[in-house]
Amino acid sequence: MAVTALYVHVPFCAQKCRYCDFDSRSFAPCNMSVALDTYFEQLYARLDAFGDAGALAQIRTVYVGGGTPSLAGERLVEFARRISAWCKPVEFTCEANPESLTAELATALAGVGVTRVSLGVQTLDNAELTAIGRIHDADRALAAITTVKDAGLVVSCDLMCGLPGQTDLSWQRTLDGVLAAAPHHVSVYALTLEEGTPLYRVACRDESLEPDEDFQAACMDAARERLSAAGYHPYEVASYALDGHECAHNIAYWTGQGYLGLGRSAAGMLDAEDFDRLAGLFPDVLARGDAYRVRLVQRDDAATTFDAEYLSQREAAAEDLMLACRMTRGIGPDLLVRSASVIAADELAAACDRAVELGLATWVPDHIEGHAGRVTSKDVIAGRVRARLAPTHLGWLDGNVLFELFWGLA
Ligand code: SF4
Repeated sequence: MAVTALYVHVPFCAQKCRYCDFDSRSFAPCNMSVALDTYFEQLYARLDAFGDAGALAQIRTVYVGGGTPSLAGERLVEFARRISAWCKPVEFTCEANPESLTAELATALAGVGVTRVSLGVQTLDNAELTAIGRIHDADRALAAITTVKDAGLVVSCDLMCGLPGQTDLSWQRTLDGVLAAAPHHVSVYALTLEEGTPLYRVACRDESLEPDEDFQAACMDAARERLSAAGYHPYEVASYALDGHECAHNIAYWTGQGYLGLGRSAAGMLDAEDFDRLAGLFPDVLARGDAYRVRLVQRDDAATTFDAEYLSQREAAAEDLMLACRMTRGIGPDLLVRSASVIAADELAAACDRAVELGLATWVPDHIEGHAGRVTSKDVIAGRVRARLAPTHLGWLDGNVLFELFWGLA
């Protein structure tokens, strides 16, 4: 398996949002500058170590997330320049928040190989933005979309539903505003209350502040309808794109490609062969003979400590099946046939049948011609019929049940 994707984590934000449990720290501006300088020096050194080890040679996609990478300003530009000196990714995304994305920064990023900016818009209702602790307003978010487009970059917007005070009407207004701004890609997430966050603590005292799952499902439906009608096709549970603007980096995650993680809290995933080849980059991680894949999470700024999770071949196959269910196209016939070499065909067929019985997935034949009868899971798994097991509307809304059916095969 080639390592084709690189994820970089920048764990700093101007202010912590009230729902956020990601690894991101905020400091007073003068301390932030010092913290960013120190952190980026460590990123530069780690990047060179990756490059010297030959780990970057086949990188096709880069994603710099956070945190708020745009907060790093010129340091982010310099880092992107250094990445582009090691590899020539076809897609290079930087996450940005509207308040720290300037026209100068967008233009400078475009000049050093960045192709795409993912903007944390969340909502275009100012009261909702305040309630979740965001520091931008709707006008700033819309201006940021224009700024990214004017710099010649692809722009994606993250939106959230189930926010405190959000209504059908305010959600429709957010969709109206985003559609009018015409980004290339939109991601829609449902707010979840993560333990330990300010919003979680408030909701513990006042149940009315807990996100209403029915309302969130209605918002997801409304978004799917409006975005689809405007030409954004839903290609993953939360992701909509104009043709040709699907996020290749995320698709690498959902299709079992190897990836590298760079920066504190960044996760990478390598197959056993790549891990052996690159083991020198992870000095405290032991090789294990029974591991088919290794997931590695950098635990400190200096890349000296890593958490490692070892997956057997069977666990890796179950994970691939589960992740494929996130995609609108579902589990393809080749993956099903391949999985049957690791997971007993009867068990695999039973999981597929259960997904169909529960109304969570349906068979979609690849080629209708030459196939007159009913598609059965056994025929597909044996390679006699080519069909995809695609999530239904229910499977899309209630994905966790579907994911568990396949992860349960591990
Ligand atoms: S901007 Fe993103 S990473 Fe930073 S605190 Fe808010 S949600 Fe968390």
